[in-house]
Amino acid sequence: MAAKKKSAHEKLNEKVALKNEPLWLKWSTAERNKAMTFAEGYKKFMKVSKTERLVVENVVSELKKAGFKDMTKTKSLKTGDKVYRVVKNKSVFAFIVGKDKNALQIVGSHADSPRLDLKPHPLYEDSGFALLQSHYYGGIKKYHWVNTPLAIHGVAYTKKGKKVEVHIGDKPNDPVFIIPDLLPHLAQTQMERKATKIIEGEELNIIVGHIPVNDKKIHDKVKHTVMEYLHKEYGLIEEDFTVAELEMVPAGNPVDIGFDRGLVGAYGQDDKVCVYTSLHALLGVRSPTHTAVGMWVDKEEIGSVGNTGAASLILENVATEYAQKAGLKIPVSKLLDDSKALSADVTAGQDPTFKDVNDPLNVSYLGHGVSIEKYGGGGGKYSTNDASAEYMQELRMLADKNKLVWQTGELGKIDIGGGGTIAMYMSRYGMECVDCGPCILGMHAPMEVTSKADIYSAYLFYKAFFHN
Ligand code: MN
Ligand code: MN
Repeated sequence: MAAKKKSAHEKLNEKVALKNEPLWLKWSTAERNKAMTFAEGYKKFMKVSKTERLVVENVVSELKKAGFKDMTKTKSLKTGDKVYRVVKNKSVFAFIVGKDKNALQIVGSHADSPRLDLKPHPLYEDSGFALLQSHYYGGIKKYHWVNTPLAIHGVAYTKKGKKVEVHIGDKPNDPVFIIPDLLPHLAQTQMERKATKIIEGEELNIIVGHIPVNDKKIHDKVKHTVMEYLHKEYGLIEEDFTVAELEMVPAGNPVDIGFDRGLVGAYGQDDKVCVYTSLHALLGVRSPTHTAVGMWVDKEEIGSVGNTGAASLILENVATEYAQKAGLKIPVSKLLDDSKALSADVTAGQDPTFKDVNDPLNVSYLGHGVSIEKYGGGGGKYSTNDASAEYMQELRMLADKNKLVWQTGELGKIDIGGGGTIAMYMSRYGMECVDCGPCILGMHAPMEVTSKADIYSAYLFYKAFFHN
């Protein structure tokens, strides 16, 4: 039987209708395998990069291996030079100096994720337990953080000024910490509370000890055991908590999800999935036209505030240092104005169980490629960077030229919510900027879910962007 001839409508439809299908169906087996392999490296990075300080350490270590030098120790920069610049141990920038030094191609992402920080006076004893009081950082559903194993990572200082790093809960055989929830049998009143209050901020108290010291002269005997341990292992005294930065994060390793292993489950993928993909994209850059810049910043989850967040002058300061060392004849304001940026951050993917929060026509789907969102924000497009048609078109052409698949969407229905990123802080300088990253499920939960297809797709897009 002869194949049926296509009708005129069918032919036109093929030309004009937007096709949206998973990357898994578009890719060859070889491409699929590359995506699966790339995710293995990603999981290894995630395992050891749970805080912004650890992200900076691990990013710098990969940069050094690839031949990047500390920018503070270089006097001048010429085409082809590769340098990095750490800011206060919590943010880091990396440059590959382009043939044209007068414009930057920046991919910026954030290294921090929601977590439980310890209060300045965290340690107390109650009912035979030693506990640590916490103060949550970023937008969390507090009830997610109970009954889940927690690890502690961070920095403390002894009174004499010795820096101490604490990392407990993520190595094999390490103990973990926990906030037990109330048993259902006695939770009648608790269950009447609103979900925002079912676990309140002041109830995020973490159990860290249980065995009392056998000494009648000591009042808080379990607390004493904990302090004894911290003193013996790290030289710490109770007062040292007041100056420390200790972060409680979900313990455990990244995992594959699904019978087919197509998804990654891990803590902190917002936004470390963009940290890792943009880092590896940068490491693959060879003689870029414009200077390629990886930017990994802190404090996004609490509004990009502080001296290591994108709302500070961090980008301008580092760009000034670059301009000086590269001997630019133009002012930094022009350098930044002529630059182009991707705000590499995650967005919300369509969740099959909670579809009503999204417009199904305008939401990103896991597995359909990196999502380039013209704007985020909420309501009447507040708190966002609304990218121009010109820049969107430029990126579409870049994708087409490199045969890269991308999708777009909005973060939620118009009047339901929205999300901010660092895009609006980068675009203040006049540079073109747009949000661009994988979509995820369970954002800000102790375990977030991404598609291996989107992780690889983000990497490919960032790499093409750096070469543009
Ligand atoms: Mn984010
Ligand atoms: Mn976030």
